[in-house]
Amino acid sequence: MLNKFSFNLKNTHNKARRGEVFTAHGKIQTPAFMPVGTAATVKAIKFDDIKKSGAEIILGNTYHLMLRPTAELIDQLGGFHKFMNWDKPILTDSGGFQVMSLSKIRKITDAGVEFSSHLDGSKHFVSPERSIEIQHKLGSDITMIFDECVQFPATYDQAKEAMERSIAWAKRSKEAFKQRDGYGIFGIVQGSTFRDLREISAKKLVEIGFDGYAVGGLAVGEGQKVMFEVLDYAVDFLPEDKPRYLMGVGKPSDIVGAVARGIDMFDCVIPTRSGRTGQAFTRNGAINIRNAKYKTDDKPLDDKCACYACTNHSRAYLHHLAKAGEILASMLLSEHNIFYYQDLMKDIRLAIEEKRFDDFAADFFDVEDVVDIEQ
Ligand SMILES: [Zn+2]
Repeated sequence: MLNKFSFNLKNTHNKARRGEVFTAHGKIQTPAFMPVGTAATVKAIKFDDIKKSGAEIILGNTYHLMLRPTAELIDQLGGFHKFMNWDKPILTDSGGFQVMSLSKIRKITDAGVEFSSHLDGSKHFVSPERSIEIQHKLGSDITMIFDECVQFPATYDQAKEAMERSIAWAKRSKEAFKQRDGYGIFGIVQGSTFRDLREISAKKLVEIGFDGYAVGGLAVGEGQKVMFEVLDYAVDFLPEDKPRYLMGVGKPSDIVGAVARGIDMFDCVIPTRSGRTGQAFTRNGAINIRNAKYKTDDKPLDDKCACYACTNHSRAYLHHLAKAGEILASMLLSEHNIFYYQDLMKDIRLAIEEKRFDDFAADFFDVEDVVDIEQ
């Protein structure tokens, strides 16, 4: 029985880690990629197909769900797993990032954030206690603390103030979290691109004590080089025996580079959002299926991929659907991209187990540089 929320570190290769997270709804093999189900749906993909891709956990957004259909309604209908009919683990973010990026903020105080909904302008208030209450109602296997995210670039003083408030909110989030077997709560390290702030943030979170630690405030416009520079030191402040989650990342090369720096978990809208705009990730680099050169191409998108699109359709057919603006183009490309990401994670896990991850990463960066612009 998977009673206790825990992390088992199985193998390492330099800083790269191969592990397993145990939750109330099953095991997650790490490094793991979590497809994003913003509004209780991974856009344009059926849950059966998400499972077939090998995904073992998906992410839901507290901010979106609290506004529509509301956490109270989902609770009344038996919780998030039952509402979506997804029986594997779910991680929910705390709403902090979306409150800052999507809504019109009225006021941030030590108590919480008062904001207007991006949907209808209605007024709402989220505090650490309210965010945790919503995540309880949803029944998330992994709850995230409520934090304050700063924009990039931030001044040192802005980053320090947000980090200190986030620590106070982390304590309140932990106090509000109900301990239950198989359910965990993660802290979120902030501090923007400032090494000493990242160190203070990580140490204070570890003192409070969490089941896992996320690195927040990256992939917000700083670029891959700066992100890797921050990860080079920030990950070292985190305990080895807990999972580490890099929020909102990223492109395949971001993921490979972050795994090399000791990250275990990822989430990002890129595979599904790209799928809706005609972009497909393949083992030979990313391509835009709308490009004229695919008009008569009768090969599959990626002959090593087992997804429905690659086993049933040609690039020429997908090109036609995308050019014609057909819904099926979004569905097939989104599903393919999720398969690609899950295959990438499987390859990463195997490479770490076989102690050849450095070679894998070097080969990967050679291919990833291929650029395919629509003509
Ligand atoms: Zn495919």
